[in-house]
Amino acid sequence: MRRTRFFPVLILLGLSAALCVAQAAKPDRQVAVTIDDLPAGMADRLPAADITALTAKLLGTLREQKIPVVGFVNEKKLYKPSEVDERIKALQMWVDSGFELGNHTFSHASLNQVGLKAWEDDVIQGENVTKILLTQHKMKLRYFRHPYLDTGRDLQTRREAEAFLTQRGYRIAPITLDGWDWMFAGLYEDAKKRNDTALQAQIVKEYLAYHDAVFAFQEQLSTKIVGYEPKQILLLHASNLEADHIGELMDVLRKRGYRFITLEDALSDAAYSLPDTYVGEEGTGWIDHWAISQGKIPQGAPKFPQWVMDRTKELHLSTGQVSAEPTY
Ligand SMILES: [Zn+2]
Repeated sequence: MRRTRFFPVLILLGLSAALCVAQAAKPDRQVAVTIDDLPAGMADRLPAADITALTAKLLGTLREQKIPVVGFVNEKKLYKPSEVDERIKALQMWVDSGFELGNHTFSHASLNQVGLKAWEDDVIQGENVTKILLTQHKMKLRYFRHPYLDTGRDLQTRREAEAFLTQRGYRIAPITLDGWDWMFAGLYEDAKKRNDTALQAQIVKEYLAYHDAVFAFQEQLSTKIVGYEPKQILLLHASNLEADHIGELMDVLRKRGYRFITLEDALSDAAYSLPDTYVGEEGTGWIDHWAISQGKIPQGAPKFPQWVMDRTKELHLSTGQVSAEPTY
């Protein structure tokens, strides 16, 4: 009797030792989650009732899992005849649920496309409703996210735009993790509409796997470029894909050792003050900015699943739809 009692104890001791090793090996990573294109990336195609439903579901999960989020708004999406009140209410749900809102310009204008003056006007026009909603909760409009991550084609434009944002009281919200969820989200929306559950499951699988690969790649690249893994900032978009599956994506991050922090906390990382002279036609993440500023071109990024890209093109989801903008 006595001898047999020892075995479970020994097994338990062995297990707890193994757990300790596993825990000790787990890196302490931190990430701030940001969600763009509010009230919804595909707001032009979705009726207000759908926007309200997806917002409720998305915010429900974020609240339940205690994930601080800043949502970035395009106020133009509020002005659909007969739906303005309901669309503003959907936006209000964010602040009522304890989340913060930032400005993503009125019409999702690209600084690289429309020119500085028109872009500045779009920034100002994007402040009205958001400011009112934030004021109701004693918050100030303090964050700005560039549409398409386009920060300017030349350094002078970039710096003038930055000075303009600073003068209006904004802090720019960079991003370091981006798994192109908007592209998966477009296909997911289409599959959901057609009740194609098998395709939805396939899309979700790829979306989670690709994000995991992007996180791994950016962790390594940031160590190389910054010298350590900085507090990361993840870019996502308001969509049915995120409403239905953001919890699983957060699990992917947890498995990689991440805990969730506020954007304010993330921005306190010294990495966000590194030299950044990036200019280009194409917007990109800030680890790329820092790498290119150091004269290093990032190599070997994980390949985006080709079939998702092909199917997106077939459905004309990613081209010629600046107003619907399932992009950045
Ligand atoms: Zn956007």
